[in-house]
Amino acid sequence: MDIRSLIKEEVLAQKAYGVEHAACPVKLDANENPLAMPGSLREQFAARLATVSLNRYPEAGSPALAARFAKVFGVGADQVVLGNGLDELIQMLCTAVARPGAEVMIPVPTFAMYRISGQNAGLSVAMVPLDGEFDLDVAAMRERIATHPAALTFLAWPNNPTGNCFSRDRIEAILRESPGIVVVDEAYFHFSGQTFLPLFGRYENLVLLRTLSKVGFAAMRIGLLIGPPALVRELDKVRLPYNLNAMSQAAAGFYLDHEETFLRQAEEIRRWRGELFSAMKKIPGVRPRPTDANFIYFDCDFDADRVYQQLMARGVLIRNFNAPGTMKNFMRVTVGTREENSRFIEELRHIISM
Ligand code: PMP
Repeated sequence: MDIRSLIKEEVLAQKAYGVEHAACPVKLDANENPLAMPGSLREQFAARLATVSLNRYPEAGSPALAARFAKVFGVGADQVVLGNGLDELIQMLCTAVARPGAEVMIPVPTFAMYRISGQNAGLSVAMVPLDGEFDLDVAAMRERIATHPAALTFLAWPNNPTGNCFSRDRIEAILRESPGIVVVDEAYFHFSGQTFLPLFGRYENLVLLRTLSKVGFAAMRIGLLIGPPALVRELDKVRLPYNLNAMSQAAAGFYLDHEETFLRQAEEIRRWRGELFSAMKKIPGVRPRPTDANFIYFDCDFDADRVYQQLMARGVLIRNFNAPGTMKNFMRVTVGTREENSRFIEELRHIISM
């Protein structure tokens, strides 16, 4: 029996999302918070998790948490959906709008899961290249909207991997002109300090995404969607009943109780980002791009494949985006601790002098 003959074309055509498993002591590839939870909190956290009833199913749909986050965001509890990371919420959005012939529009380069989840759901994916400044090409997007209006448009703000926030006025133009849902993914909000939250309600097609992954809880997979109640009601139908496990629900509550600690960590990372950027700028042939996130997108005069491999051989893992065209010799490094950043700079200098 040929199992492949049973699998749909969109899945057969893809490669699985590659996550590097190299055992590198300096891990700067996944835009995580490099700081562990402070020791004093870890005990409290363990005590909180110990109260979870492992023999019971978790609260379906996490209504208590949704209500708490809604208060923080200043929206109604019927406007919040929790997901098993943003990855799941992206998948839920794609599943819900995947009528025959429906399309998802994304700028490129951007976060890979928009395309992958779109294709898996059977949506056609319109990829519109960013302009030379990594900003939205509104004219090209407008053209696409006129001929093939997307049911769903994903805009990462700041964008991954380029690191910048697209111009507000360009996002608003897309919000105004798109007849479909426009998702502003604020996964890196804690490092940009910018948000479309105040505009929520002004645009009925605006949906916002937030995550706790970048502020210290990547392992717990906690994502948040803020959207109009009519959309939230439909998403509830495609959501798996117990999508957020009980440990993750407890962890999200713990995060809210101690949010200041994690916001202070993010502030510190922003400072280290500035130092890392300056150090990279001083290396001849290395061009870091301005960033609003906890990572830096950069290109260089050297073969990025070689630089990436040699960094890995020396214990420093980053992300390699090298591809012919606009991503030639581009890589992305996550802001680590001061020590990790220094080690990266030191090894990079060494490798390019060889
Ligand atoms: N959106 C963007 C723009 C991201 O970069 C990422 C993580 N790399 C995600 C969403 C996924 O976040 P989560 O960990 O909450 O699934």
